[in-house]
Amino acid sequence: MKMESVVMLPGMGGAEIRGLGGNSVRFSGDAGVQWVLQPRGTARVRGPQHFRHSVREGVRLSEYEHVLGSDGDALKQLFPAGVARLWGSTPPVRERSAKVTALEERRVGDEVLFYAGKKFVAKARILGLLRNRPLARAVWGEDEDRKTWEHIMALGDVTEFEVPAEPFLRGLRVPVPLRSLTLVPAEERRRLLDMADPAVSSRPERNSPRPERGPNLNREALFRSLSSLRTHIKEQRASRHEPITLLWAIGRLATQQERMVEWETFRSEVGPLLQDYGLPDSKVTPEYPFWHLRSSGLWNVEGIDQPATPTPPQLVASRARAGLTADAAKILRRSLARAEAIGLLCSKHLGDVDRDGLLERVGLAGYTRASGEFPDRGRGGGRTPRREVTSSRPDRDQRLVERLKVMYQHECQVCGSRIETRYSHYSEAAHIRGVGRPHDGPDELSNLLCLCPNHHVEFDRLAIYIDEDWAVRRNSTGTVDYRLKLHADHAIEQAHLRYHRGLCGRL
Ligand SMILES: [Zn+2]
Repeated sequence: MKMESVVMLPGMGGAEIRGLGGNSVRFSGDAGVQWVLQPRGTARVRGPQHFRHSVREGVRLSEYEHVLGSDGDALKQLFPAGVARLWGSTPPVRERSAKVTALEERRVGDEVLFYAGKKFVAKARILGLLRNRPLARAVWGEDEDRKTWEHIMALGDVTEFEVPAEPFLRGLRVPVPLRSLTLVPAEERRRLLDMADPAVSSRPERNSPRPERGPNLNREALFRSLSSLRTHIKEQRASRHEPITLLWAIGRLATQQERMVEWETFRSEVGPLLQDYGLPDSKVTPEYPFWHLRSSGLWNVEGIDQPATPTPPQLVASRARAGLTADAAKILRRSLARAEAIGLLCSKHLGDVDRDGLLERVGLAGYTRASGEFPDRGRGGGRTPRREVTSSRPDRDQRLVERLKVMYQHECQVCGSRIETRYSHYSEAAHIRGVGRPHDGPDELSNLLCLCPNHHVEFDRLAIYIDEDWAVRRNSTGTVDYRLKLHADHAIEQAHLRYHRGLCGRL
């Protein structure tokens, strides 16, 4: 199939589809998201009118008070400004059909793609699912069989565009033209978006002389491996050698260095890390992770092949090289996967290590904070107190910040507090995914939070994170501290929150 129209956005972990006349649409990089393919319907069934009324303009909940029933509270919570974006489906006719599967399996957080005239014309995110016949009848009426659109999706992040649907549908093995509500499982969606990832294909591996283990490693398998690293239990405490080595290897990827390194380089770089960040009473033996990390399925050793663990002199003599496998590196070169992997390694295996110091040493300094700015270098080893580096901040759109603060009237979206000053009020705008290196988040309202200074620091330093359902949780315990306050005009992109959760080690 032709995939020229699909390109990965650098640093977004998602994908962008280029469409007609310079149109383009961005998709979430979130691995769990499914696609709900939704025919918009022709003029004969009033498809365009319904779309304009209930999706583009939105439905005023106050006008439908009498038919909201028990869904009223949930809808008002989802749409605090009182304008709900809704789309519905009639009950399926046949017992087993694509439509039945889609109605049953679609979930909150999934992406809906509206289809009309062989094109995708809009995208939205499912905020809620409900079944309400009186509401459906009031909003869209009944069809000729007296059926209503009672299976209702509450929608957010509505974006309209035009892209040809045919290459897409063929890639997904969905019949063209699309006639029925159809669900695309997360793996299929991911596969399609992954097909043309230039971050991967533009970076050919230099001479890999022999085939590597672990063919077709996927993202899930990689994260399983990272969380279940074989660690040697020593007096009830696991050795930190393998997670430290993997962080070092990820740091090499992030700083564009070669994936495979010779033993002597490895020893001179990893040895001191194990010395400084390994367990105080453990022996420093870089030859162990160099050799044994292979059992993780993420690691490759070249130039030496023997049953026993090689000794350092043997490693020197054979000029052995080791590093992440090409498959693992391919996944970890994507910024979303990389942030999640770093968060996972730190939270799972390096809980009581000086994370700031270690990440800075391996070239991943920005990952200790959501805002991502590199701490001041040039003062010994990252263990000195940090000074804010404001000069390296990319230019930010001050109008967005003002808009956000006015929208919330300076109330913290986490705790609701509002700091009074002599003449006004004070709040801070926090990027969910830092705009600077290394996170490269967008400077958009969908990536901003209005916070009080305390919660800004806690969010930025990864002490709190926000779940898909807007629960604000404490990272150390996972308990819900607050529920995020959301203004109706503030559509936060779930993918950015997920990226932040990745940094927090919460997958
Ligand atoms: Zn607060």
